Amino acid sequence: MKVTILMYHMITEPEDPIESVLCRTPEAFRKDMTQIYQAGYQVLPLATILDGIAGKADLPEKSVAITFDDGLACVYENALPILQEFGYPSSTFIVSGCVNGYNEWGKVFGLPRKRMLTSSEIRTLAESGVDIGAHTVNHVWLGKSEKNVATKEIRDSKASLEDILGQEVSTFAYPFGNWNQMVRNAVIEAGYSGACSTIAGRNRKDTDPYLLRRAEIKGGDAPWQFRLKLRFATNDMPPRPPVRSTLRKFLST
Ligand SMILES: [Zn+2]
Repeated sequence: MKVTILMYHMITEPEDPIESVLCRTPEAFRKDMTQIYQAGYQVLPLATILDGIAGKADLPEKSVAITFDDGLACVYENALPILQEFGYPSSTFIVSGCVNGYNEWGKVFGLPRKRMLTSSEIRTLAESGVDIGAHTVNHVWLGKSEKNVATKEIRDSKASLEDILGQEVSTFAYPFGNWNQMVRNAVIEAGYSGACSTIAGRNRKDTDPYLLRRAEIKGGDAPWQFRLKLRFATNDMPPRPPVRSTLRKFLST
C-alpha cells in the first residue's frame, strides 16, 4: 500500500499575494480532480486509509485522499460542489474556536481576514460525505505549548465540533504541522483514531496513524507538478517540468 494524502487550505482566488500559496483557484482544483479521475485513482476517506494501515482493509493500488486544513468557508462554497460532481470524499480539519467567525490566527502573518465555516455549513458538509476533523481551538503551535495548553486545545476542539455535529470527531491535523511526542500522545489520549502531519511521502502499512503523511498542493502548482505530487507525494518540486523522456522514466518507477 502506497497512498498519497493531498493537503489543501483554501479553494478560492487569492485576494493578496501573501495568501497565494494557500489559495488554489476553483479552476485549478477542478483540473486536479479531473487528473485524479483520468489517472484512474480511487479517492478514499481517511478512515479507509487508517483501516488499510491497521490491516483491516486492502486498498486499491492507486488510492488518494483529499484534505483541507483550517475550515475556511470557501471549502463549502467552492470545493464542495466540485467534490460532489466527482463523487469524491474528503476531510476538513477545522479550527473550532473560529467557527461562525474569521481566521483570527492569520492576522499575525498578515493574511487577509477570511470567513470561516458556520455551524450549519459544517453540518451540511458532514451530511455530504465530508469527514470533519479537528485542528485545535486557536490554531496554535502545539509543539511549543505547555502540556496542559496543548491537551486542552486538542480535547476542546474535538468536543466543540462533536457538539455541532452530534457525532464523533475522530481525526485531527497538527496546525503548522507542528508536533512532538507529548503532542502526539495527547492526540491519542483524547481518543482520536488518526492524525495528519505535513511530512511528505506516501502512506504505507508501517506509517504511524498519528503522523499520516501529506503532500501540499500549493496555489501556484502547475498541472505537471500536481501530477508528480499525486504520484509521489513529494513536496520537493523541480522548478521546470522534467523533459518528457525523464518524466516518463520518473513516472514509470
Ligand atoms: Zn492550519
